[in-house]
Amino acid sequence: MKTATASAVTSFRTDESFAKEMDAKDPLGKFRERFFIPKKKDRSDMLYFCGNSLGLQPKTVRAFVEQELSDWEKLGVEGHFHAKNPWMPYHELLTEKMARVVGAKPVEVVVMNTLTVNLHLMMVSFYRPTAKRNKIVIEASAFPSDQYAVKSQLKFHGFDPNDSLIELHPRKGEDLIRTEDIESLIEKEGDSIALIMMSGINYYTGQAFDMKRITELGHKKNIVVGFDLAHAAGNIQLYLHEWDVDFAVWCSYKYLNSGPGGIAGCFVHERHAENKDLPRFAGWWGHDKKTRFLMGPDFIPIEGAEGWQLSNSPVLAMASLRASLDIFDEAGMDAISAKRNLLTGYLEFLLNSIQSKNFSIITPKDPARRGSHLSIRIMNSNKTLFNKLIEHGIICDWREPDVIRVAPAPLYNSFTDVFQLIQQLKIIFV
Ligand SMILES: *Cc1c(COP(=O)(O)O)cnc(C)c1O
Repeated sequence: MKTATASAVTSFRTDESFAKEMDAKDPLGKFRERFFIPKKKDRSDMLYFCGNSLGLQPKTVRAFVEQELSDWEKLGVEGHFHAKNPWMPYHELLTEKMARVVGAKPVEVVVMNTLTVNLHLMMVSFYRPTAKRNKIVIEASAFPSDQYAVKSQLKFHGFDPNDSLIELHPRKGEDLIRTEDIESLIEKEGDSIALIMMSGINYYTGQAFDMKRITELGHKKNIVVGFDLAHAAGNIQLYLHEWDVDFAVWCSYKYLNSGPGGIAGCFVHERHAENKDLPRFAGWWGHDKKTRFLMGPDFIPIEGAEGWQLSNSPVLAMASLRASLDIFDEAGMDAISAKRNLLTGYLEFLLNSIQSKNFSIITPKDPARRGSHLSIRIMNSNKTLFNKLIEHGIICDWREPDVIRVAPAPLYNSFTDVFQLIQQLKIIFV
């Protein structure tokens, strides 16, 4: 289900009228006004390119949250059953829409906790090392929280990360990890690997890994394969069920616009749904719904991802995510992906049109191997360039040692945003 590559569809131009033409015919253009765009001092819109870090607020969030505040005000504890959206099964309101975002069956998805918590819960069940097979594979430049999580799991099981953690590096002089190198690693060391746990899209380089292929390769060697989709969920098309991924986790405050510290997602493949023998850390909300309130001492897990829940649902956080998922459901990941390819392709084209030795793009050129964000390496780690962007009301982020990430989000960024960004960059970067 590949979307056409940006360059195949459009020959980009550098003039402003091109951006205006693209905005005029953009089928998702109307979604911009569903979001609050932060303002500069002069009340004009900021150029916001940070949806990969914290997505903007849908204007409907307030009403969704106020509904629950109002039911709490009027009903107190009775809201669990008699609120307009009863709180007892509130998380179920999110399941189908979230499942569509990641290409999963509803039984495979649950919204709960936060990302790193879910990653640990998944490793409790799916990292089951033995003396012979105990290694974990992760990319060398993975997000720190993921590195801490896998290292602490190794130690928890009595293994030394120096021996049992395999970090995938790019080749010397390269920035990206080659799939063929992942392949040869699995070929060579597969029998000692218990778990491959990588990001779907690397937060630093913006490289999208070939999750389907990696899962296939891992499974051939009986390795469990899980992904951290923090930068992939709501950004690229995912087919977790079809790809046969064992588990996945993601946060919802980045591309999924659920607000700071928003509640996270978790995927467990249907193959594992009925396996009651998997070790897991249990809590009452994962217990069979029919008998949960009998308050018996023995844990009987719900079949599917819901069986990993621990606690009752943080309804206020879920309310804001609901507002956002409604928008995703209406727009659809196909349309979001099609615009993403165009918008990011346009950003790349304009960046390449700036004649300057002060920066280079390290994100893959192939649209199938990246999402929205482009990582721009700044020569000599010159952070003053980034500071100047902020002064001009351009919001993107700096990642040590030397990268500026720019992420146009298809639901609220326009081609004109990208054009205006480049006009500033031409002054600042040259
Ligand atoms: C954003 C991000 C996190 C953040 O973890 P939280 O538990 O939500 O604080 C973790 N891993 C990756 C890859 C991320 O991009």
